Amino acid sequence: MEYFPLFCRLQGKRCLLVGGGEVAERKARLLLAAGADLHVGALNFSAAFHQWAQQGKVTLLQGSFNTCWLSDCWLVVAATDNDQVNQHVADAADARRIFCNLVDAPAQASAIMPSIIDRSPLMIAVSSGGRAPVLARLLREKLEAMLPQHLGQLARLAGTLRARVKKQFASVSQRRHFWERFFSSDRLAQTLANGDMARANDLTETLFNAAPETHGDVTLVGAGPGDAGLLTLKGLQHIQQADVIVYDRLVSEEILNLVRRDAERVFVGKRAGDHCVPQAQINQLLLEQAQRGKRVVRLKGGDPFIFGRGGEELELLARHHIPFSVVPGITAASGCAAYSGIPLTHRDHAQSVRLVTGHLQHEGRLGWQKLAADQQTLVFYMGLAQASEIQHQLLQHGMRADMPVALVENGTRTDQRVVTGTLIQLDELSRQVTSPSLIIVGSVVSLRDTLRWF
Ligand code: SAH
Repeated sequence: MEYFPLFCRLQGKRCLLVGGGEVAERKARLLLAAGADLHVGALNFSAAFHQWAQQGKVTLLQGSFNTCWLSDCWLVVAATDNDQVNQHVADAADARRIFCNLVDAPAQASAIMPSIIDRSPLMIAVSSGGRAPVLARLLREKLEAMLPQHLGQLARLAGTLRARVKKQFASVSQRRHFWERFFSSDRLAQTLANGDMARANDLTETLFNAAPETHGDVTLVGAGPGDAGLLTLKGLQHIQQADVIVYDRLVSEEILNLVRRDAERVFVGKRAGDHCVPQAQINQLLLEQAQRGKRVVRLKGGDPFIFGRGGEELELLARHHIPFSVVPGITAASGCAAYSGIPLTHRDHAQSVRLVTGHLQHEGRLGWQKLAADQQTLVFYMGLAQASEIQHQLLQHGMRADMPVALVENGTRTDQRVVTGTLIQLDELSRQVTSPSLIIVGSVVSLRDTLRWF
């Protein structure tokens, strides 16, 4: 951490701004908004400064910079158009242990001014440490657009309720639940935006009186195939509110980084042939955590309802009347197809797509005859270990030997690898990749030559 982020109270505190031009004006506006006792030193002042002086908002110090201007100052901003003067001011401030901000050379300053999103009392500051101010500004614009204007009012109201919440709700988790309900209440936000305080107070009372949640719940969240950008907004909300996250090996590190920091993480890693935690035990774990009143997120690779055993996990919860919900995710077939440039359907190639398990214990039920038919795309999940059997059965049932196939390893992740060939080579190709890999069979695979982009 090169710069320590800090919000400081400037109300009534003397601050020195050196410079009287346009840039200095911008800095002056910010310092005045923060209530600073602003002294401005410069050879010449723009009209705005003269006006502020007349209104008693600033004190003007006309002349060349003089170190005695620094007396009693808490903060200095050097904003002249002369780099040497700015540096001289910064050196003088350093010598007196006063934080100083330098325009145009923030990296040399002891203090930098971040880009801010002001929803006072909510304040968001973005800084690139002076390295990439344009990036900081772009981020600021995004956050501005994302954060509703009334957020400040909500935060202000929250401030007046803190003591009461502390008194009324004994445990930290009860308080957190209250605040989450408070901040996610669209009606309350809307009422505040309309300035209807009486109604806002009514709504707040309702929140206070709502029965505290004594039982937990479980949400199955599909994390997608790996690239964190493919997580849904709803999935993100859930993983940021969870008390407990139960996840397995298919969930990427990138996505785990988005989980609420103080959530408990339970790893129930599972991979073909290496069942670390038996399914029944996972089901039981979800049930027990929810019964303890926890908000549980079962985070699963891809989509929870596609070869994810999501159904099995919910059945037990349903039997015990634990509330649950499901947030779909992008399944490996969609992710791998998109990131390898292989459209799963195409008017000239395939009118249907079939997602097939490679666990062939129940192969009798698979219906190879239909799988071998033309004009469709087959996507095999968990198929690596059975590649030779898949190849054999498809050929046996009449699929042409030169049918294009692709194997996508670590699809959508930065280390994604795709190998392609024909059906007759499938077994051989399968030894060139490792789990997790998806097998795509069908003439759509040939489109990759033109459509690959990742
Ligand atoms: N519910 C998951 C599938 C779980 S089954 C989903 O909807 O995607 C596990 C299989 O999914 C793996 O054996 C592999 O075939 C496939 N898979 C999952 N993630 C993958 C990825 N990033 N790249 C390639 N295949 C993947």
